Amino acid sequence: MAAAWVRLCALVLIGVSSGAALAKDKTPSAIVVGGGLAGLTAAYELQNKGWQVTLLEAKSGMGGRSGLATSEWIGNGKAQPVLNQYLDRFKLDTLPAPEFVRTPGYLIDGEYFSAADLTTKQPATAEALKRYEKTLDDLARSIDDPLNPQANSTLFALDQINVSTWLDKLQLPTTARQLINQQIRTRYDEPSRLSLLYFAQQNRVYRGVSDRDLRAARLPGGSPVLAQAFVKQLKTIKTSSPVTAIVQDKDGVTVKVGSTDYKADYLVMAVPLRALAKIQITPGLDTQHVAALRGTNYGWRDQLMLKFKQPVWESRARMSGEIFSNAGLGMLWIEPALKGGANVVINLSGDNARLLQAFGDKQMVDQVLIRLHAFYPQARGAFTGYEVKRYSVDAGTGGAYLAYGPGQISKYWRLWERPVQRITFAGEHTDALYPGTLEGALRSGQRAASQVQDLLAGKSFDPAKAATVAAAATAGAAVAKKDSGGFFSRLFGGGADKPEVKAAPVAKAEEVAPAPAPAPAAAPATPAPAEVAKEEPAKPTATKAAPAKHAPAHKPAAKQAKKPVEVKKATVKSEPVKKPLADTQAKAN
Ligand SMILES: Cc1cc2nc3c(=O)[nH]c(=O)nc-3n(C[C@H](O)[C@H](O)[C@H](O)COP(=O)(O)OP(=O)(O)OC[C@H]3O[C@@H](n4cnc5c(N)ncnc54)[C@H](O)[C@@H]3O)c2cc1C
Repeated sequence: MAAAWVRLCALVLIGVSSGAALAKDKTPSAIVVGGGLAGLTAAYELQNKGWQVTLLEAKSGMGGRSGLATSEWIGNGKAQPVLNQYLDRFKLDTLPAPEFVRTPGYLIDGEYFSAADLTTKQPATAEALKRYEKTLDDLARSIDDPLNPQANSTLFALDQINVSTWLDKLQLPTTARQLINQQIRTRYDEPSRLSLLYFAQQNRVYRGVSDRDLRAARLPGGSPVLAQAFVKQLKTIKTSSPVTAIVQDKDGVTVKVGSTDYKADYLVMAVPLRALAKIQITPGLDTQHVAALRGTNYGWRDQLMLKFKQPVWESRARMSGEIFSNAGLGMLWIEPALKGGANVVINLSGDNARLLQAFGDKQMVDQVLIRLHAFYPQARGAFTGYEVKRYSVDAGTGGAYLAYGPGQISKYWRLWERPVQRITFAGEHTDALYPGTLEGALRSGQRAASQVQDLLAGKSFDPAKAATVAAAATAGAAVAKKDSGGFFSRLFGGGADKPEVKAAPVAKAEEVAPAPAPAPAAAPATPAPAEVAKEEPAKPTATKAAPAKHAPAHKPAAKQAKKPVEVKKATVKSEPVKKPLADTQAKAN
């Protein structure tokens, strides 16, 4: 109680002095923590508005999670408008995606099917997939405003249900269910770990955006090229600078990197939630924020590139951009092999990735090879080596990307869009419409930068009166129970078969995220003069040898130099791009 009172007093003091304390003629300053695309965007937008910006990045290289992929498919302006605006601004050319990658394929018991094949050769599966898509679309349509997905009590109740339970009610044939599970766990997380409201909201956001829009082009070099374009524009970047503590007071913020203190008027925090949880913040965050840091679910996804002397799969399959397997192989695609041979990238997601957490890289590859071998007996003989990327166990992320679990929208919806005194938050996890994507990261950086300017102008972001969502939740559970042949019956396949809506774990009023005023995306600033430092050539990732012949090479932890390294515009040296893995996460590429 006493501690809460002290924190409140401190926060009031900081709030009162915020903005007003800055002399009118002083150049405002900001520190951005995190050099992923969100932090880079925030830093770039603030610098363009005349701010003095220092970007602090823990690792030796910039780009964060974007640095993991070098050949992802990206969406067109309809699917990823902000991403396309920045590509235009930095004059980064894309190549149109060939037709064959623009629709998904399926690998059923080792046999490849295009969507068209499925209709003629596996009509029951094709029909079930259509039924699922139609039911999902109905669910998505029931959300009027994806920024306010829990607008009514019935929708709110969906947050208490997991996607697997909903799928059970559809009673899909086994193969269709396996393919759907695979698609959901690749794009988000294991269906049983995913809030049905989040799933519906995301499908509402992407309603009218086809697979063709999502995989419309390829950015040669992948998103690290975009990250480097931002880096070239920024004046002050300090890499190998892991932030350990932040103190806010009436004069500004002090940020600690080892024994070095950095000071500024405001701060943009652009690190994933698990990384943020490790930073000591004074005055401390309230219980809702702390609970969100620990409790918000992240989807899991690991990637393995297996290399073969020649293709061991059906040659027709080699062109597809994304192939969902009905077996433990996950989602895969064929990666062009530059030096001969044939590469396949296997994405293990959700609980398949969690299960293999205990395995070393070599054992994980062996597990996958065993499954591949079952369909393609030539696989072992033709196998030459592998590369592994384990995003799931990255301590700085705690998973691949945000994927709200049951009950979490009710508790944490748009929580991180609200500044905490002098700190604004960015990162894919803070974007309400496009979490888990490049688009979401870029949008969040724009929003956070714009909020910092609002703070300077004296705008208050005090929590709006918490909507009585708790009451809505109670009502929601009641409505769901009473519903006879209405909303839920339609969603769950009709008849008297109603969903088991568990008594909604009703959020207490103070635990409910107040709905912040929607933050408009900052208008793109005028491009900075195109003074572009020479880009470092990407170093190819060292190829690991075939597990049968060599012991697994363990990935060394990212090296962090003890002293912060100041990187000035003219001398920017970026970390070499780490891996030549393609990335075709369907929801945003
Ligand atoms: C396997 C996988 C596939 C994906 N595929 C796609 C795709 O096809 N299309 C798409 O649009 N999106 C895709 N994404 C998502 C996209 O990569 C991310 O949404 C985006 O890169 C996140 O950017 P960010 O800035 O929010 O976070 P990050 O990129 O994680 O940046 C955070 C930065 O903060 C730094 N940091 C952490 N702690 C500290 C600290 N204490 N001090 C200083 N710095 C710190 C980190 O090192 C990191 O550089 C994929 C992601 C994954 C993991």
